[in-house]
Amino acid sequence: MESALTARDRVGVQDFVLLENYNSEAAFIENLRRRFKENLIYTYIGSVLVSVNPYKELEIYSKQQMERYRGVSFYEISPHIYAVSDNTYRAMRTERKDQCILISGESGAGKTEASKKILLYYAVTCPANDHMAALGDRLLQSNPVLEAFGNAKTLRNDNSSRFGKYMDVQFDFRGTPVGGHILNYLLEKSRVVHQNQGERNFHIFYQLLDGGDDNLLSTLDLERNPQNYHYMVKGNCPRVSSINDKNNWKVVMKALPVIGFTEQEVQKLLNIIAGVLHLGNTQFGEGEEGETYITTETQIMTLAKLLGVDGSALREALTHKKLTAKGEEMISPLNFEQAVCARDALAKAVYGRTFTWLVEKINQSLAVKVGISIIILWGCCCDLPFNCMMGLLDIYGFEVLQHNSFEQFCINYCNEKLQQLFIELTLRSEQEEYETEGIAWETVKYFDNKIICDLIEEKHKGIISILDEECLRPGETCDVSFLEKLEDTLSGHPHFVTHKLANGKTRRVMSREEFRLLHYAGEVNYNVNGTVSCNLSLDQSVMCQSDNQILSHCFRKEEVIDQKRQEMAATQFKNSLMKLMEILMSKEPSYVRCIKPNDAKQPGKFDEVLVRHQVKYLGLMENLRVRRAGFAYRRRFEAFLQRYKPLCPETWPNWNGRLVDGVSLLVNHLGYKPEEYKLGRSKIFIRFPKTLFTTEDALEA
Ligand code: ATP
Ligand code: MG
Repeated sequence: MESALTARDRVGVQDFVLLENYNSEAAFIENLRRRFKENLIYTYIGSVLVSVNPYKELEIYSKQQMERYRGVSFYEISPHIYAVSDNTYRAMRTERKDQCILISGESGAGKTEASKKILLYYAVTCPANDHMAALGDRLLQSNPVLEAFGNAKTLRNDNSSRFGKYMDVQFDFRGTPVGGHILNYLLEKSRVVHQNQGERNFHIFYQLLDGGDDNLLSTLDLERNPQNYHYMVKGNCPRVSSINDKNNWKVVMKALPVIGFTEQEVQKLLNIIAGVLHLGNTQFGEGEEGETYITTETQIMTLAKLLGVDGSALREALTHKKLTAKGEEMISPLNFEQAVCARDALAKAVYGRTFTWLVEKINQSLAVKVGISIIILWGCCCDLPFNCMMGLLDIYGFEVLQHNSFEQFCINYCNEKLQQLFIELTLRSEQEEYETEGIAWETVKYFDNKIICDLIEEKHKGIISILDEECLRPGETCDVSFLEKLEDTLSGHPHFVTHKLANGKTRRVMSREEFRLLHYAGEVNYNVNGTVSCNLSLDQSVMCQSDNQILSHCFRKEEVIDQKRQEMAATQFKNSLMKLMEILMSKEPSYVRCIKPNDAKQPGKFDEVLVRHQVKYLGLMENLRVRRAGFAYRRRFEAFLQRYKPLCPETWPNWNGRLVDGVSLLVNHLGYKPEEYKLGRSKIFIRFPKTLFTTEDALEA
């Protein structure tokens, strides 16, 4: 039999806190690599799960595996996403405290797959009756629908989520899931009108063209070939070998009624999807006097019909703008570029708002119903319909593209906030554990990224405030003046850089259209082109009159017309992030940190440079340092005794005295030196991994 030592050499340690040299990034990565080669994709940092995408199906997700992890303590069994799911669930039930699992990592690292595995684990292992089984079904069925409308093929992931998702699952007093609620964040709307080379629009467009029957396509006036639609051709990538659009279409069409969509609603939804495609094919011409007109007249009538609006009003909205000057409303023509811009803005707004409606609709179907059956069954009307919540956060990771715009800015801001929360909560829980155990707290040095969060969100002088001001300024606003404003207010800030140097000279390597932020995870240059215009609200009041109920619901008159009351996109995002942070702060967090092993989406390939970047972005070394600040290892007295009692004649076969005395006897017998360990109130803390390994090896011998 392989000795414990060589097995450790081969497969590494299953918890990074057991690494001898916990400050060494090289040792950290080597441990990940060894385990990855052995298909051991999961490793802990204390209670944090690090997961490396295997890019192949592993046989570790079966029902039998789920059973293995039920009710088993974290450290007794190999690391797994099921262990996190099960431990969190048990903590929720025994401590009666809301929990949340935060999943992070870059695009393609496996966040969405992880969140689906957690949901499936609950659907399979939690107690349920028929009523609740239907809910579990709806929870699972909401996934393909959300993915069809919110995911797309990108260069980095064939099924990339282009929105952030926070889902609460509500459980009743028996631990049965009884309801759910989804919050969605910042859908990447620009994808509706533009895709980079090798990327696609949202899956639903391709699914409809590939899977919809002839009859349906003819009522929507659509042709099968995606290359005929401007909004689908930009990436030049209509087919993806790993995606079966036709099958996925069937799955989505089956799922929609399960989650409560009526036939009529499905029809209206498809009208909108087709409408967006027709909108993209709307073309403009320039008249002799510079006025713009629509050259695709027949198209516009089809489009008006699909969107349920009046044709001439739509024509007007695409070619003219309304201005209010001195209290009077004036109509002025748009030039060619402005018309194209108005068309694309309308397409983005229609799709974006429909997506939000879709999420609302799913929420209605997942909402906790105070079912009469529950009340009768349990004969008690005062029981709350649900009693604890489990949150699941699957949100975009830190993103650095070649060209970073407003969307990347929001995504990275979100990651700054999550990092802040992570550090704060990890430190807090470490400190609390030391306190409850009566062990002196040793201060840990760490980088506090509050300074960067403030730079972005501070009132009056943060980037978002400055952007708001610029967007609300009357008259012509532009991206360059936004940048100048930023420079005036923020120059000299240690995390903010532009082409201007303090001595008045210019930094050659930076363009005049960008600013650089020094994020906790690295430097990113953001291009301001389109930032202000992206934040400006265009007149889309034509949609308020739509007789498509989804659209009239999405474009409410009060909100669309009263521009002043509309929040700017960045502030909206900031506010929704603040709310998210509040929700997360009120729960007990667990973490899953996902890593992508290579850019080629290939199994077995471990690209060290790429992994090193992510270890840095995810702050894993920092995390390990906090966790290892004092002690490498901790375990409850009873568990420690149970495992090692054969090593000491006085504790073997049974110890009947006080637990702490038993542990004391045991470690004295093993020759632990005072500096190697401490005894808390209920746990033993061991400072060095070597001490534990020696004990483990003695057990093996
Ligand atoms: P994005 O931020 O772009 O949404 P993501 O982190 O959500 O990315 P996923 O969509 O979960 O990434 O994973 C990308 C792909 O990697 C999946 O489609 C799947 O092929 C593969 N994958 C991820 N996790 C696993 C796993 N545990 N087992 C097998 N394959 C996996
Ligand atoms: Mg995803």
